[in-house]
Amino acid sequence: MQFLKHHLISYFCIVLAAVTAAVLGAEFYLAVPSMVSSADPSPVIVIDAGHGGEDGGAAVSGIREADLNLQIAGRVHTLLCLLGQNSVMLRTEDRSLHSEEAVTLAQKKASDLRNRAEAVNSLYRPVLISIHQNMFAETKYHGAQIFYAPTDRSEEFAQDMQELLRIKLDTENHRQCKPAESVYLMNHVNCPAILIECGFMSNQEERNKLCSAEYQKQLSLVISAGSLDYLRKVITDEV
Ligand SMILES: [Zn+2]
Repeated sequence: MQFLKHHLISYFCIVLAAVTAAVLGAEFYLAVPSMVSSADPSPVIVIDAGHGGEDGGAAVSGIREADLNLQIAGRVHTLLCLLGQNSVMLRTEDRSLHSEEAVTLAQKKASDLRNRAEAVNSLYRPVLISIHQNMFAETKYHGAQIFYAPTDRSEEFAQDMQELLRIKLDTENHRQCKPAESVYLMNHVNCPAILIECGFMSNQEERNKLCSAEYQKQLSLVISAGSLDYLRKVITDEV
């Protein structure tokens, strides 16, 4: 009950901010520059738009996962910034984050992931949210699912976020969050971290939703609300 009450308050605040942004003519996908000061003791939410550049991730009917990831990540980042929450994006454009010495695609992918992990670990009190889209050979599967890092409080963060996605976006989605056993980034960061598979690109109905501005706004509102709920719990426990 307490969780729901807190959630409703933050959800209301986000809706207010969204309306304000809409009134001001702001576009949600525009990344708002944010300053993360090392003197600021508050946690920073790191939004990772998975893939990018040569690595487009999953692709169906000309739609690239990397592009959807960036659009949704940008919306979450913008909302968090509007609410005064420290937030940074690991990439803000369609590019890989590999180092110069990487030559082959495999080397670039490995270098990109190493650099993302290093970037997260270099921050003060980061909380990582990695945005991806799912894909499967059988097209019937759908529904968002969250994977979590083997770090302190990541499972709790994932469980709360998974439940929020179910309640707010799809009450028929009974997927459970799972450990991100083979995901490099989730296994090489030192902070609370979750990976959100927002939905299945292989399911046409869900793919259409994921591409729509309306659903991206709903999704980013829920992810932002869940992130703020999580931070509130962490800060409350510290007091
Ligand atoms: Zn992906």
